[in-house]
Amino acid sequence: MHGMKIPFNKPYMTGRELDYIAQAHRDGVLAGDGQFTALCQGWLESYSGARKALLTHSCTAALEIAAIVLDITPGDEVIMPSFTFVSTANAFVLRGAVPVFVDIRADTLNLDEALIEAAITPKTRAIVPVHYAGVACEMDGIMAIAKKYGLTVIEDAAQGMLSCYKDRALGSIGQLGTYSFHETKNIISGEGGALLINDPQYIAQAEICREKGTDRSRFFRGEVDKYTWQDIGSSHLPGELIAAFLWAQLQEAQHINARRASAWQHYHELLAPLEREGLLRRPIIPDDCRHNAHMYYVLVPPQTDRARLLAGLKEQGVGAVFHYIPLHSSPAGRKHGRAGGTLRTTEDASARLIRLPLWTEISPQQQEYVAKILGSALLQYKMAG
Ligand SMILES: *Cc1c(COP(=O)(O)O)cnc(C)c1O
Repeated sequence: MHGMKIPFNKPYMTGRELDYIAQAHRDGVLAGDGQFTALCQGWLESYSGARKALLTHSCTAALEIAAIVLDITPGDEVIMPSFTFVSTANAFVLRGAVPVFVDIRADTLNLDEALIEAAITPKTRAIVPVHYAGVACEMDGIMAIAKKYGLTVIEDAAQGMLSCYKDRALGSIGQLGTYSFHETKNIISGEGGALLINDPQYIAQAEICREKGTDRSRFFRGEVDKYTWQDIGSSHLPGELIAAFLWAQLQEAQHINARRASAWQHYHELLAPLEREGLLRRPIIPDDCRHNAHMYYVLVPPQTDRARLLAGLKEQGVGAVFHYIPLHSSPAGRKHGRAGGTLRTTEDASARLIRLPLWTEISPQQQEYVAKILGSALLQYKMAG
């Protein structure tokens, strides 16, 4: 087992990506919205039940389009977790909005729906639940609060493709949802993303925003005889080469998910004894959620020197990493956002969380090595401290 080197992530390729790219190359169709884009969007719509799916360059871009179509304007407030990636907040700050950071639940590390109401003010416009690790937020509670106060819900489902909440695809529950196909996610195209539109009133403007503010999408469908500048927008549509790559991945999505699910379950079983000994806490999956095995994380005991632990794991070839620096405590978060209540669970979890190597083709033996190295490092800390 010595000399193993297990990277944190290793992108999985199906083998068909280059065939489809070659086809786009042969056909001479390179700009966006060709046949591969249509195939991917059709797949996403039928899989998720969304009224419309639009491919974008990234989940970040999809969130930016969402903020524009919801007409978020300066001074508006948007409720979101602090325990998330920067794009969740940036997309709204770009429109002049104020992110209001609400604490997370201790079990799933997702936005705590019980704390949302206290953070609502007359300026609140939207709620952005983030499905951390592909595990669903408590969407019934969140949707009920949104309805009561007339707010819009945009699901940041960057990590949540192929996960469900009560048998509904994540990203298909709020008015809008966003996916990421970044290399580090389950289904990839290098960089890439999609906007899911579940409330049809936003479809026309989302198409315009994605097409540089023009109605070119309608022109291509023959609905107008020329296309013109309609509204603000940008260049948000990926070219066909990216869509061709993504098409190969989507066709294998269920297989990729099944492989990841069995790796996730293997860690879960390997680490159960360490949890019983109080050396770590494993992820908690609510009964309402079927998840996509995007990530395997553990929470280490509060007194652990995490930086030293990670450095020690790295020395033994284990590519484990920490995750978010909470947005409310980061320079831009302090400048543009504010805390909506205390953020104790956010601070606690972000200080104690480590993510273990998990990728589609990781082998059981590699995982057993990771678990063994992690276990002995944590035991050492416990004896020392
Ligand atoms: C990865 C991620 C993003 C950004 O996705 P990109 O496609 O890289 O823009 C946004 N939010 C969350 C929660 C993410 O995990």
